Amino acid sequence: MRGTNAAQPRCVALQGTLGVAAHCGIYARRPSVCREVEPSWEFGRISPQCDKARLAHGLPVLTPQDWLEPYDTDEPPLPQAA
Ligand code: SF4
Repeated sequence: MRGTNAAQPRCVALQGTLGVAAHCGIYARRPSVCREVEPSWEFGRISPQCDKARLAHGLPVLTPQDWLEPYDTDEPPLPQAA
């Protein structure tokens, strides 16, 4: 999360271009504070922190339609490809 307190916050672990193709470069080792933020609708509910972050970067909030139905109902849905 280094870099997230800057005037224009951007975590040094963030790879790629927001709104185009971006991902966490340390996803498997990301800090607990990052693990606690759910993407909106991944688990069937809104995430105010996710919505706030997306809006701060000029991105639309996620909707249930942004997620694919799981093949296995025991698994969470997957994000659709852009
Ligand atoms: S999830 Fe990864 S890229 Fe996002 S703030 Fe946490 S460490 Fe940085």
